[in-house]
Amino acid sequence: MISLENKIILITGASSGIGAACARIFAGTGAKLILAARRLERLQQLVETLHVTSLQIHLLQLDVCDRAAVESAISTLPPSWSDIDILINNAGLSRGLDKLHEANFQDWEEMIDTNVKGLLYLTRYIVPGMVSRGRGHVVNLGSIAGHQTYPGGNVYCATKAAVRAISEGLKQDLLGTPVRVTSVDPGMVETEFSDVRFHGDTERAKKVYQGVTPLTPEDIADVIFFCVTRSPHVNINEVVLMPVDQA
Ligand code: NDP
Repeated sequence: MISLENKIILITGASSGIGAACARIFAGTGAKLILAARRLERLQQLVETLHVTSLQIHLLQLDVCDRAAVESAISTLPPSWSDIDILINNAGLSRGLDKLHEANFQDWEEMIDTNVKGLLYLTRYIVPGMVSRGRGHVVNLGSIAGHQTYPGGNVYCATKAAVRAISEGLKQDLLGTPVRVTSVDPGMVETEFSDVRFHGDTERAKKVYQGVTPLTPEDIADVIFFCVTRSPHVNINEVVLMPVDQA
């Protein structure tokens, strides 16, 4: 197992769910964390619960869909934060469960811009530094939705199939360098994801978990921790993890 002491880890979507759980697990390792999301106040609340010094945390209020903002955020990181070792491309969302021929264009654009283009922007601006420094690891949050579709899942499933293809493609492109790429593809995880999907309709959101014991954000953070702490010659390409009772 490799040490994460003083490694710089950037987590997108750290204000909630899986991203926040990643912040919690990595905060105990001596790593330096760059926590990114649009809701700065949620990041600040999270930091108050972590047992870390201010030297270990750098917050970025960032909309991953805004390419210029991503470029500026990465290129203006203070020198002591700029050599990112691990990028966790976690920011993502689903909107609606509508039939494709009835769906809302704005929902599609939000999913594609966040889940695909946002992930690409972060990757494009951070991976060159990893290649030139000769070390790095990109972890992309895919989903079981990248492997199978379900009614109304159409565009969300397409974005996660794209994440899977991007992870595999990036791995190919980085052959010959020590930079690693992993796709972590969960089934159902209980987070704010369902509330966001149904635009704050919490009753509808709760029904999603009926009959299933969903994964917790900590289950996913554990797997990510495992992947990034393997010996440098080991690349875990993809992990699919599901609740025992999810089909
Ligand atoms: P949450 O809704 O709890 O968290 C999503 C995070 O993404 C939030 O921190 C949110 O922060 C951030 N985010 C959304 N849009 C943007 C944006 N434009 N710019 C920056 N940050 C953004 O959901 P999860 O933790 O469950 O989801 C995390 C990832 O896991 C997603 O990629 C999701 O697709 C994937 N996943 C989730 C599953 C589940 O069942 N929950 C299953 C499989 C995969 P903010 O709003 O502050 O910007």
